[in-house]
Amino acid sequence: MPQFVSVAEAHTRIQKALTTLDAESVALTDALGRTTAEPVRSPGSLPPFDNSAMDGYALRAADAPDVPAVLPLAFSVSIDAPERQLPGGACARITTGQPLPPGADAVIRVERTEEDGDRVRITHPVNEGQNVRPAGENVQAGETVVSEGQVLTPAAISLLASVGAAEVSVRRVPQVAVLVTGDEIVPHTETPPPGAIRDSNGPALQAMVHTAGGEARVVHASDNRQALRDTLATLRDVDALVVSGGMSVGRDDLVREVLTSMGASWAFSKVKQRPGKPFGFGVWDGVPVFGLPGNPVSSAVCFEVYVRPALARMLGRDQFHRPRHVATLTEPLRVKAGLHYFARGIATSSEEGCLEVCSTGAQGSGISRSMWAANCLIHIEEERTDPQVGERVEIEWLPGAP
Ligand code: AMP
Ligand code: MG
Repeated sequence: MPQFVSVAEAHTRIQKALTTLDAESVALTDALGRTTAEPVRSPGSLPPFDNSAMDGYALRAADAPDVPAVLPLAFSVSIDAPERQLPGGACARITTGQPLPPGADAVIRVERTEEDGDRVRITHPVNEGQNVRPAGENVQAGETVVSEGQVLTPAAISLLASVGAAEVSVRRVPQVAVLVTGDEIVPHTETPPPGAIRDSNGPALQAMVHTAGGEARVVHASDNRQALRDTLATLRDVDALVVSGGMSVGRDDLVREVLTSMGASWAFSKVKQRPGKPFGFGVWDGVPVFGLPGNPVSSAVCFEVYVRPALARMLGRDQFHRPRHVATLTEPLRVKAGLHYFARGIATSSEEGCLEVCSTGAQGSGISRSMWAANCLIHIEEERTDPQVGERVEIEWLPGAP
């Protein structure tokens, strides 16, 4: 099995190793951002009854064939007597959302009437069905309102509340361990001694996991076989393992060797891409292992390209890749032949309303500001040569992009 694979092959091999997480039931009010595990059907219709779209008067349109017309005011529609029958030839006062009284078939809005004691003068023509919201116009009884594999947004929660879904079946939150390696790395809360740097990948990956719908616990281990083995032994209960650094070919890159000795097998160890060429993927005791390069940009790009969609797939989301669009380049890019290039890009809309994109500037894999400035990744496929101004490229929106 080749270990140095294309981006497409890397995706295929990762997908093959993933399984969908179990479902659990949660209160609707705790379900924001969760992914549905089964379709939700509405037991009844919405709205449940014909009701008024306006403040005004309910009547039978045929009782006011010519205007102006004067009708006796029979009553005000009330929550205490929602079924009260409208007598023939009369009208009833009604407010927006109140049920249309039996016998009425239209509502004339208040601005088109004059109320005078117990009589109402209708000044404008009225047609059957006017200003009436029929039962079921929003949702029909038995209809699926939210299908399986959907992320619950505030709008979905609104819909589910109105059909009475007090609890929803959602996928379990993926529990992810982030193993940060490197003797030169100290926790970001400490002042690094000479030659050391703060850990930025740990907090960054934890945040990325969170925005991908998971929960991450970050652990640190030094570049030492025993320390790695001891730390890894505490991480067997997770749904995915994300390793930062130590996966490359340097003398201190021991994670692969240690994981292999503990039973992991590898689907690939390098990808034809830049940044993030030393990205490797394997499975350890059923747990997918994403070996991200230590450089902050490489690690973030690999997370976006591989780990985020993998978590979405484990959550059973039907849409597990970020949305893509075609944009026109406004600056030339330099690429390396044979490698799929992920430039960090800023996409904007031109005056004509077309998408344009440029890079965020210097693209070195240690320049994490290039990731912060970006709203998209620009994909330059491995077979392409240096793309020029005006060429069309595919962009993949980063989370948080407008
Ligand atoms: P590695 O993949 O371990 O060879 O690391 C490559 C580069 O990324 C080195 O310059 C490291 O210092 C840097 N690096 C590794 N891990 C981290 C981290 N957690 N936070 C910030 N930089 C890191
Ligand atoms: Mg290292």
